[in-house]
Amino acid sequence: MDALFPTYARWDLTVESAEGAIIVDNKGKKYLDFVSGIAVCNLGHRHPAVIDAVEEQLKKYWHVSNLFKSDIQQEVAGKLVENSELDAVFFCNSGAEANEAALKLARKYTQKSKVITFLQSFHGRTFGTMAATGQDKIHSGFGPLLQEFVYLPYNDCEALEEAMDDSVAAVMVEVVQGEGGVVPGTETFLKKIQELCEKSGALFIIDEVQTGIGRTGRAFAHQHFNLSPDIITLAKGLGSGLPVGAMLGKEKLKEAFGPGSHGSTFGGNPISLAAAKATLSIICQDEFLAEVEKKGAYLKDELSKALTDQDLVTEIRGSGLMLGIACKAEVTAYVTKLRENGLLVLQAGPNVIRLLPPLTVSYEQIDEAVKMIKNNSIVEYSA
Ligand SMILES: *Cc1c(COP(=O)(O)O)cnc(C)c1O
Repeated sequence: MDALFPTYARWDLTVESAEGAIIVDNKGKKYLDFVSGIAVCNLGHRHPAVIDAVEEQLKKYWHVSNLFKSDIQQEVAGKLVENSELDAVFFCNSGAEANEAALKLARKYTQKSKVITFLQSFHGRTFGTMAATGQDKIHSGFGPLLQEFVYLPYNDCEALEEAMDDSVAAVMVEVVQGEGGVVPGTETFLKKIQELCEKSGALFIIDEVQTGIGRTGRAFAHQHFNLSPDIITLAKGLGSGLPVGAMLGKEKLKEAFGPGSHGSTFGGNPISLAAAKATLSIICQDEFLAEVEKKGAYLKDELSKALTDQDLVTEIRGSGLMLGIACKAEVTAYVTKLRENGLLVLQAGPNVIRLLPPLTVSYEQIDEAVKMIKNNSIVEYSA
């Protein structure tokens, strides 16, 4: 009997326990986890600092509602603001909710409705964020969609120049398209968005739900390029596996989100925020982030060396510990084979193998993963 909606194509794997970068299934088999709960468990599973913070908060109280003042919300917001160029934080429970808040705020602040996003983007599954997502397969069967979204090709400055005018409320973009194939945005393109937003009065929104919280070797991926977005959105890695999302915005936007304009019963839940506080205090350290960048470069290098003789591999791309191996053929069977052999990886689209190890992964574990990827022929297992 299966009492769940079949919304997920689940693997044949039931987890019994997890620690660091290792998952153990209900038959006692061990896996090296290069998925991290889809870029969520950035400190690995069951990081002691997160366990301590959550246990401490559990002893105090769990939930009271946003009718009360909250020290823990102030603390985590303070940490986010301190580590970014933004000034104010709204807490919610997921990436889609963070983007939903950003879209609502953009419309309210600018009093305009048109939003530009990009083909192959992913911004979430709610009506607003589904409409923002530039993939037909995500929209299919759910129409009519929320209106006034325009999808442009990613990394195409000319298309953007043509589309931008003063009717645009916002441009929403990922620094590296995650679900869309681990495709990095170019510095020129991202700077062009910022320039054109400034010129036309549109808000520049960066969706850092996947790229944020140290994943690319900076606290937030846009910091590689010295950009100054009006809004960024966070979720996945923020709570190390406890559900929490956040929208960060510039000071000028505060007035448009006054009392009664937006809200969430669970948003800013103290348990999730205790996890976020512990997570941020580890990840937002220069030495930690430098190490992520080093490990990312090492993994990319080792993969390049290991895969030189694999004709099907076209490119190894990405940023920090968010990497994709782009292939000429479908990689589903190959990814399944790796899983059977004890390495968990993801797919991004049909042809890209996506690697998202915990940021705390060791060099030995990286070597082990590369060896497994090398020892399984992609040609043999691709369609
Ligand atoms: C995962 C993801 C989302 C959606 O987050 P949920 O928590 O699943 O709602 C939005 N944007 C990006 C870039 C993502 O990777």
